[in-house]
Amino acid sequence: MKLAVLSGKGGTGKTFVSVNLAAAAKNATYMDCDVEEPNGRLFLKPTKVTSASVDTMLPSFEETRCKGCRQCVDFCRFNALAFIKGKPKVFETICHSCGGCLLICPHHAITETWHPVGRIERGSHEGITVITGILNPGEASAVPVIHAVLDDASAHEGHVVIDCPPGSGCPVLESVSASDYCVLVAEPTAFGLHNLQMVVELLMLLQKPYGVVINKIEATYAPLEDYCAQNGIRVLSRIPYSKKLAQINTAAEVAYEQDEESRKRFQALLQDIEAEVRT
Ligand code: SF4
Ligand code: SF4
Repeated sequence: MKLAVLSGKGGTGKTFVSVNLAAAAKNATYMDCDVEEPNGRLFLKPTKVTSASVDTMLPSFEETRCKGCRQCVDFCRFNALAFIKGKPKVFETICHSCGGCLLICPHHAITETWHPVGRIERGSHEGITVITGILNPGEASAVPVIHAVLDDASAHEGHVVIDCPPGSGCPVLESVSASDYCVLVAEPTAFGLHNLQMVVELLMLLQKPYGVVINKIEATYAPLEDYCAQNGIRVLSRIPYSKKLAQINTAAEVAYEQDEESRKRFQALLQDIEAEVRT
């Protein structure tokens, strides 16, 4: 079973839920696709870590062949090419490596070079395979690193928990696409409800099954509960705010391993999701 854990914004506890679901699943793989801010490794503290570069293609121009026709520059919808002194020039951090300019050049003046955009780290923690995508600062697109994480052959049998990027854009869509079930983490606030609605719209488009975890509850926020009830959205778990959990998080520990109540909560949540996926 592949579980994608999402939230409309950062700071809702998405990584907290992801890490603890992986801990509850035991023989599992945790994939951190929040590649701009991969925090799961801080909690899981994987050992025996290996690292591999993630590279993407960049266009390279052969001056002797280039006739200065500008077709590549006009073609690039990402505006990653400029025409300077009669020749094309690529802006490396804007190029999306689509390869279109290579195809469009009528004089075969463009070839590929490889450019590092990030890396993948692999390690393990208490039977959990931990795969972390890390995007280099300033890179335009997180998608190549997310693809590399999701395609990682070191993921073993058992449940896979995908810690998705926050929001509802392209990186989220890529992270969710291979999942069997989605867990949406929301805070009980007006902002939390707004962000939940954005992610729900995305999942409805993708036709993915999902349920909601309401996190950091200090008081019931009726509009969020009403929204879920009126739209037939199942609330899988309600996690109250607790000083003990805050301390465990601040110490970068895994609540499942430190707190009996959390252990029971995440075991129950995982069993609930397994039952949902089976039906
Ligand atoms: S399309 Fe080819 S020939 Fe034309 S400017 Fe670009 S690289 Fe040069
Ligand atoms: S590979 Fe695609 S994004 Fe990059 S410069 Fe060429 S057309 Fe633009």
